[in-house]
Amino acid sequence: MANSAELSVAAKWIQQSSSILIAAGAGLSASAINPQYGVGLDYTSVGAFRRLYPRMTQVSSMRCMYDAIGKHDWSPELMWGYLFTHVNICRYNWGATSVYQDLKQILSNKSIDSFVVTTNADGMFEQNKFDMTRFLSTQGDYSILQCLKPCSRQSVYDARPFIDRGLPHVDPQTMEVPSQYVPKCPNCGGRMFFCVRGGNWFIESAFDAQRKRYHDFIHRAIHKKTELFTIIEIGVGFNTPSVLRWPMDQLVSEFPNVRLIRINMHAPDVPDHARREKRAVGFDGDAAKIIEHLKIISTA
Ligand SMILES: [Zn+2]
Repeated sequence: MANSAELSVAAKWIQQSSSILIAAGAGLSASAINPQYGVGLDYTSVGAFRRLYPRMTQVSSMRCMYDAIGKHDWSPELMWGYLFTHVNICRYNWGATSVYQDLKQILSNKSIDSFVVTTNADGMFEQNKFDMTRFLSTQGDYSILQCLKPCSRQSVYDARPFIDRGLPHVDPQTMEVPSQYVPKCPNCGGRMFFCVRGGNWFIESAFDAQRKRYHDFIHRAIHKKTELFTIIEIGVGFNTPSVLRWPMDQLVSEFPNVRLIRINMHAPDVPDHARREKRAVGFDGDAAKIIEHLKIISTA
């Protein structure tokens, strides 16, 4: 378990801060245990994959959810049968989980200026009813489909109606959906995919409003120089470190009013000088437990 003196220090930063940023990566959703399935949304877990999609190990070479990312050697029928099932579970029906609820409580003090930035496309913050006007999903969102060409920068569509049409027709044995339910771009009839950063086809402009609000928040927080700005970074690894991990290192390195709480099972290291100046701490235990402790101490 994490060092309790360091937990107290981190909780005190949270209490004393006027701005708090939550920066969340895959490790946070991996620790969000769904009570019905008894597993977290862990993209690398063989056990979670078997539990959520028992047929998929029979009908494909996949062993975990991560194997679907960039996968090409499957038919459109199997791909969409799986994706409809997966997105329906994780993006719309994972529901409230204790680790996200604990985080929400940490932000519940009305006088705190807060924001959430995440690389997860799973919509967990929305499912846990965070304020979506203070939210940036940097790598896209499974609730949006887009044209893969794309034929236009406006070719983004709510994914829900496509999923609602196809999901009842997914064969529970083969996991395939009949080809008439494979999404086609309503504008050009071409192939579609979720609006996520999977290639240069990604229609990033769908998130421009979110991104502007994020930059405004960072600007406000770093310029209140006499007031503390705490970053709680959770489960952000080295898959795409330039998106969240390195920018958080840079913020704590550059601005003296920034404090960094890094929670990471495998890589809790923080920049040396920030650690020496006691402006950054790292925790390597289970994210859910550490966040629960931080909530209890900081809201006491
Ligand atoms: Zn199109």
